[in-house]
Amino acid sequence: MCTADARSRSRISGAWLAFSFFLTLGWLSPSGTISAASRQSVAQCDLSEVVPKPCLCIRLYNLAGVPPQTLDRAAEEATRILATAAVDIVWQQGPADSPEARAFDHTGHGKGQHPKPDTRNYLVVSIRRGDPASAFPGALGFALPDAQIGVHATIFYDRIEQLTQLVIITAPRMLGHVMAHEIGHLLLGSTEHSSAGIMKAIWDRTDFQYDPAGRMEFNPEQRRVIRERASVRVLRQPE
Ligand SMILES: [Zn+2]
Repeated sequence: MCTADARSRSRISGAWLAFSFFLTLGWLSPSGTISAASRQSVAQCDLSEVVPKPCLCIRLYNLAGVPPQTLDRAAEEATRILATAAVDIVWQQGPADSPEARAFDHTGHGKGQHPKPDTRNYLVVSIRRGDPASAFPGALGFALPDAQIGVHATIFYDRIEQLTQLVIITAPRMLGHVMAHEIGHLLLGSTEHSSAGIMKAIWDRTDFQYDPAGRMEFNPEQRRVIRERASVRVLRQPE
C-alpha cells in the first residue's frame, strides 16, 4: 500500500480538454516495467567525486525513447528551474539493462527508519511510456522521496506527448517542468505542495502562457531546504 508521505503523482484533469490543463497530485503506487536506452549527449557525472557545493547528480533512464534533442532541452529546462534553488544539476544517462531502472521501493520508510538506508549520492529519474490508462489515470509522474533502492521519480512521457498535442507547450518544456517538480519532491523530502510555483498541485495553462519570473520556480523556503538536502545527497559516499 502506498502512503501519503512516501510518494506522489501528478495527474491531468479531464477539464483541460475544454480550455486549460491541470496537473494534480495524489497518492498511488507505481507499477509496470520499463526498458532503457543509453545516450552520451547528456553531461556525464563522476559519482565518485566529492563536489564541495550543491551539485546534484541525476541518473536518468530514458526508457520511453525520448528523442535526444528533446531530452537535452528538457534537462536544460529542469536544470534552469532547479538552479533557482542554487543547485547545479549534472545528468548521467543510465544503461538500458540496469536493474536500478526497474526497481521500486514501496515501503515508504522515513529517513533513518529503513533497514537498508539509501547510500547513493545521486537521484534516479526514469522516463517511460506504455502504462495502461487505467493505471495512474491521468498521471504525468510520481515521486518516491523515501525510496532506498531503484527509481526515485518516474515520468510518463506518452501522457506528456498527448498533452502537448492539445495545448501550446512543447514536449521539452513540459517534460522539464515535470522533472523539476518530481525532483523537487525528492529534494524537499516531501510530497506536499505549495499554493504557487513549480511545486503547486495544479498547473493551469496560464502558468505556461505567461510564466513571469518566479512563477514556476521554488519559493524561498523550498530553496533553502533543497540546497541543504542536495548537499547531503551529493556529499554522502557509497558504502
Ligand atoms: Zn507533486
